[in-house]
Amino acid sequence: MKLKTLAVASTASLAALALLTASGLTLGTAAMHREVTCLFHMVREVRSITELQVNMLFHERESARVALAQHPEHARARDAAEREMKRWLEELRAHPVTADSAHAFREAEAEVERYLATHAQGDSVEPPSTAELAASAMEADRAYAALDRLLSTKIEESRVVRARVDRVLRLSNAMSVGAAVALLAGILATLWQISRCLYRPLLALRAAIDSYGAGSQDARAPHGGLDELREIAVAFNEMAAALAEQRRKQLGILASVAHDLRNPLAALKLTVDRLRPDRPLPPEQQLRPMLARIGKEAARCDRMLTDLMDIARIEGGELELRSEVRDARELAREVVELYRPAATAHELGLSLPEEPVLLRCDPIRIEQVLNNLVANAIKYSPGGGAVRVAVAREGAEVTIAVSDRGVGIAHEDQGRLFERYFRAPSSGRVASGVGLGLWAARRIAEAHGGRIEVTSAPGEGSTFTLHLPG
Ligand code: ADP
Repeated sequence: MKLKTLAVASTASLAALALLTASGLTLGTAAMHREVTCLFHMVREVRSITELQVNMLFHERESARVALAQHPEHARARDAAEREMKRWLEELRAHPVTADSAHAFREAEAEVERYLATHAQGDSVEPPSTAELAASAMEADRAYAALDRLLSTKIEESRVVRARVDRVLRLSNAMSVGAAVALLAGILATLWQISRCLYRPLLALRAAIDSYGAGSQDARAPHGGLDELREIAVAFNEMAAALAEQRRKQLGILASVAHDLRNPLAALKLTVDRLRPDRPLPPEQQLRPMLARIGKEAARCDRMLTDLMDIARIEGGELELRSEVRDARELAREVVELYRPAATAHELGLSLPEEPVLLRCDPIRIEQVLNNLVANAIKYSPGGGAVRVAVAREGAEVTIAVSDRGVGIAHEDQGRLFERYFRAPSSGRVASGVGLGLWAARRIAEAHGGRIEVTSAPGEGSTFTLHLPG
């Protein structure tokens, strides 16, 4: 899993949980609001019905007083009660009702209207007859009964709404607890995931780096957690392995240099042993070759150490060029002459143009490159044969090609020849070496703005061509 994926997944799941919780709570609150509003209307309606009944009682009483006393004050009170009754009826009509209570309301309304119609026959001077009184009492009873039924319906509906409010409340509570638990679980799961994929692998990586820094070269980081951390662990492990390999090769180089230095030093020691101060000096004709040998072996040691120091300098990025204009023919000639005395089994040949081939370069570095190419040509032609150095000008370039008829290099190895420490298995068996010469040569050529190319066929020989800007 990638860091971005973890961040997006954690944020998205927490946001989704929060959204779910918020919408659950909003829905719960909305449902609660709806039911409470309904309950509020019910209470108002119950109040309207009871007000209606009370006013009807007033109306009945004042109607009776009007009939008995014919007093205008009672008639006004009765009319006021009638207005109130109509107002409360209007109030009840204006509010929404269920199908049941609509039916009960219509019935009650009709009965109340009938009651009012019976009592609205004008204020007659004559007191009402017994039959009229009985009819009016019956109308009133029927209206009261209808209003009672409406009241019962309303109270029953209020109970239902109250039960619904309780249910919504319980559901809201359960949803709140559930949402809190889900949110907590989501946060814990995210923390666990972060710890598993990020924190613990980071600690393991840090422990591996600390332990490597403390000198444990076998320390390797475990490959776990996020992709990025796994990539860092892989990179760290590869770096540690490469450093271990490099160290192994450096130790090999040290051993090889020590081995290579032993031969000229042994020769020096043997020669110097014959010139001990307590012995008489040999005659001059013997002394001169001995001194020449001392000089030659000392020069060999010096060259080996200089090459080694050069490689260390190039590796440290301290390659400094001291450029001057030189004839490439001279450089090639000097190198060939240097190797000619030692390469008795080889025919060293030079192919030079008649005109000077001038180029701007650091002659010591270019000689170092040519030395390496010629030494390799000799070294990897164990059976002897022609080694040829050819100088030419090709357009804007000067080329110096070194060819041999030696063991050659397998095609698949040719691309890696200039890598540090690389030795081709086919030719590497033929002679000892450390795989740094061509690497250094390429660096020097590139520092001059040039390159080295190789063509080779196994068993037939190789040609290394140094191209330099002319
Ligand atoms: P070294 O010779 O010390 O191994 P170099 O960097 O000079 O290191 O060469 C790298 C490798 O290239 C050698 O080990 C050898 O396998 C191959 N090589 C170089 N020159 C030649 C050559 N003329 N013929 C065949 N193989 C060669």
